[in-house]
Formats: sequence, structure tokens, C-alpha cells
Amino acid sequence: MATLFVRTATTKMGASGLALRGSLELIRGSLSLKTVSFFLVCLLLVSSTHAFEVSENFWESGQAVFHVGIPGTSPTGGSWNDAFKRSMDAWSAVSSFKFIAEDEFLDPCIDRGTDQFGDGVTGVDFRSTVCGSAFGENTLAVTLTAGQCLNQQCTGGFTISDADIVFNSGESWDVYSGPLRFDGTSEFERVALHELGHALGLDHSNADSAIMRPFVSDNDALQTDDIDGVISIYGGETIVETTVSNIYGVALVEPDNATLSGPNDSVNLAGTLSSSDDQLDGKSLDLYQYSFENDSTIDIQLNSQAFDPFLYLVRVTSSQASIPEFTFVDDNSGSGNNARINTTIQAGTYWLGASSASNGSQGGYDISIISSSNTPSSSFTSFTSIYGVDVLVNPNPNIKGILNSNDFKFDGKLLDLIQFDVSNTTKLKIDLSSSAFDTSLLLVDVIEGEVGQLLFQNDDNGSGTNSTLQPTLQAGTYWLGVTSFDPSETGDYTIVISVVLP
Ligand SMILES: [Zn+2]
Repeated sequence: MATLFVRTATTKMGASGLALRGSLELIRGSLSLKTVSFFLVCLLLVSSTHAFEVSENFWESGQAVFHVGIPGTSPTGGSWNDAFKRSMDAWSAVSSFKFIAEDEFLDPCIDRGTDQFGDGVTGVDFRSTVCGSAFGENTLAVTLTAGQCLNQQCTGGFTISDADIVFNSGESWDVYSGPLRFDGTSEFERVALHELGHALGLDHSNADSAIMRPFVSDNDALQTDDIDGVISIYGGETIVETTVSNIYGVALVEPDNATLSGPNDSVNLAGTLSSSDDQLDGKSLDLYQYSFENDSTIDIQLNSQAFDPFLYLVRVTSSQASIPEFTFVDDNSGSGNNARINTTIQAGTYWLGASSASNGSQGGYDISIISSSNTPSSSFTSFTSIYGVDVLVNPNPNIKGILNSNDFKFDGKLLDLIQFDVSNTTKLKIDLSSSAFDTSLLLVDVIEGEVGQLLFQNDDNGSGTNSTLQPTLQAGTYWLGVTSFDPSETGDYTIVISVVLP
């Protein structure tokens, strides 16, 4: 299969404020596999009624990892990397396409000019040339993409396997929002936004305000035309509004992509604070529920151009009580007034709250959540109970465990104990299932760290030999006992705890 390369360039406004002629260059494919060589000639006809254009080239996986480690900061102090990553997030927030940032510098030109051209590893940097060839006049940046043709003739575009972005170091650059300065300084973030549009497979648009216009302009954010473009390739981000009532009386939304699992995962969504939202302390609040399957390092950013964002991250138990040790809030740790929580969390269920710093704020916002996990495990807080049994304190609604021969034995049967807390009187459904053994489920209350009384026990109310309990529990601490019906049985089991709504 041939690999081919596409180069797209961005042109700046002239000092007079007149747009100079833009260049969309789809240059000849160089080749990387030695056996096949061909030229691709692309004639782009721009009609005056047409807006976004797609290149026919796309990332098959719907995502691209970009290595972002540009040295230095802008003259006004903002980091190039932060600006670049905001641009990545902006595209991810409005579509199913996901840019994933890897905090590592990679030379965008590495191996270029050899038969390894298009090494499949993304990079971004400032350069005086486009990896050896001169920048065109007024060219601010160039995106180089490479990929595999979809057919022998290479007529239907290609699946992108590499994208690299080179910013022209002969220009003076800064990071700022709003109208372009006329002192000749180019603005980095909106050019990054534009080049990333090429990297994901968009060509130039002739919509007046689009970021994908071939000229930079006063416009510094994605416009409807840009968003329509990326959605036409990858589909849109949709939120299924599963609203669950909860103890705070705030509508809780469970998005359709609400579980993040390792080693790397990301989710983006866009929302709007409005006056009809539920209020917390006089401020509109949108609440989303996410589950992290593994202990993770998370980077959550809440960005808005309409208001000063305020971000909550609250870990909740299976009975939807908050866990104070894992509650985070942030106002201004992001760029500008934006909010950001960058920390390590344990696996579990979390509520993510989007709100504002000031009362009465309304408008659109974007949330990006990136999680990474080196060790795909779910930590439990364990302690030794008075009986010498390790009790797993696990507020996750889904628990996977193993009865093994090292476990504590009670009455000849192996026993795991799992502690959970209930904050308000709640009706729960607790399902214990195993394909390895005939399950038996116990529920006891715990008073000051000691077992109170056996409240419920079930052997086979679930399907087959599985167990189910549906207790109504008052606020307090409880232990679930997982054991087998027959002595000494071992194997994997799963517990699912759900709240039974009135
Ligand atoms: Zn361009």
C-alpha cells in the first residue's frame, strides 16, 4: 500500500488588513513504501455557495494522539502547549473525533526526506522551513499528513496515520484572543485550531467566519461551519439524557459515553448553562455522572467564552452519597478564567458539575475529560476488621472480586466482606452473580466498626444460583458478605448495586 502526503498551508492577513491570496496546496504524494510511486493531482473547485470541504482523508479510529512538547512560552506568557491542547480539545468537544495529547516533544520533521517519510508519529514545532522546503510567502503553518490509500488508484482519499504541524518560526507569534493585532504578530492558538482541522481531514472552507477559511481572521474559535465539517466526517457528540433524581434535587445527566477505562481514554461534551437549570447557591449547575474503571490520573477542563466557569468533581457512593475525601472544586486553574482539575483519583463513580463563579451566568461551555492509568486496577481502601478479615471499602456500584482459598473461612465457607455507606434512607437492589460457584449474599449493619446484626441473607433469588437482595437501608455503614452455598468454593464474582427509584 502506498503512503501519501498532503500539505496544507495557512496564510495570514497582510499588514494592510487585506486578505492575501490563500494557498491550499495538495502537493504530490511522495511515497514511503518503495515499490509504488504515483502522483496525486487534486483540483479543488471552490464554489461560492459552498462552505466546509472535507479532504476524503480521515483517521479510521476517529482519534489521533498528538505529541505536544513545544519548548518555551509566548511573549505574553501563555504556554504554546496549553494553547495547542486547547485547540485539540475544541475539536474534540464538538464531535466524536478525539484528539489525545501526549506531553512529549517529538520532532515533526523526524525521518522526513528519507523513505521513512510519514513515520506515523505526530509532532509539532516551530521551524524555519517546512522540514527542508521553504515556507510559501505569508504561510504561517503547514500540516503534513500521511496515510494509506483506500484503493489501488488512490482516488478515494486515505486513512490518515500521521499528521505533523510546522509553524513558521520566521513569523512573530503570540497567544491572545479576540481581534488580530496589526503589529504583525500572528496568533498561535487560532492557527493551531486551523491546522488541527487539516490534521483531522478538513480542507479549506469559504464560509466567511470559519476557522477553516484559508486566511487567519479576528475569529478565534470554531464556528458552525467548522463544526458541521468535523461532524460530517466523524459524527457528532451526543448526550443521552438519562436523568436520575438524587438527594440534592439537581437533575443528574448520565451521558452515553459515561465510563472511562484505561490506559488512556477521553470524553468531551458541550453544554449550556441556562436560567432554567437547577441552582446551587444561586448559580446554575449542570451535573454529569461518569465512572472511572481504574485508578486514574485525570485532567478535566471546563472552558467557556461566555462566563467564568466553576468546576466540581464529587465522588459518590453506590447509594449516591458524596465522599468528602474525593471531592474537588476549581475556579481558575485553567487558561484565563477557565476551570481545571488535574489530579489522581481512585476508580469509582463521580459527579462532574459545570457551574459559574458568579451568580446569573449563562452560556455555552465545553468539558474535556482525559484519563490515563498506568496500572489498570481499582484500589480499595482495606482495613483489618475485628475478626481478622480484610474489609474492602468500595463505593463503586460495580464490584468484581474473587473468592480464593486464602480468604477468611466462616463456617467452612470462604468469605469476602465489602463495606459501603448509605447516607440517606435508600432502597437498593444488590445482585451477586458468579459463573464459578453457587453464591450466597449476606448483609449486616456495622456499628462503630463492629458487626451489628445480620439483616438479610439470600442464596438463590437471582437467576440460576445467583443471589439478590432488595433492602431499604437507613443511613449507616454496612457490610456485604460474599460467600458460597457449598463449602470451600472459589472463583470470580460480580456485585452490582443500584438505587431503586421510588
Ligand atoms: Zn489551511
